[in-house]
Amino acid sequence: MKHPPCKKVIAAWSESLEHSIPLTLRAQVWYHLCFCGPCRRCIRQILAIRDLLRSMFDTTETQNAAPLPAARKEKIRAAMQAARKTI
Ligand SMILES: [Zn+2]
Repeated sequence: MKHPPCKKVIAAWSESLEHSIPLTLRAQVWYHLCFCGPCRRCIRQILAIRDLLRSMFDTTETQNAAPLPAARKEKIRAAMQAARKTI
């Protein structure tokens, strides 16, 4: 099986979150993730950021339409910088 580079794997995995990707590409991503710790770590960080953002923008907060507190902005920025360093 062809072994795609890490950046292509992360891009394909990200795409699969919102859209269907071809079965062969999905298999390549799965196979790559079986052996690539950095990609698995990157995906865990992306999922952590997604969960953090979801928790921050639950329905009660979005209904208030209050500005995002500075502490939360800093938390998002730090999480995004940590994720960027692993790619
Ligand atoms: Zn990788």
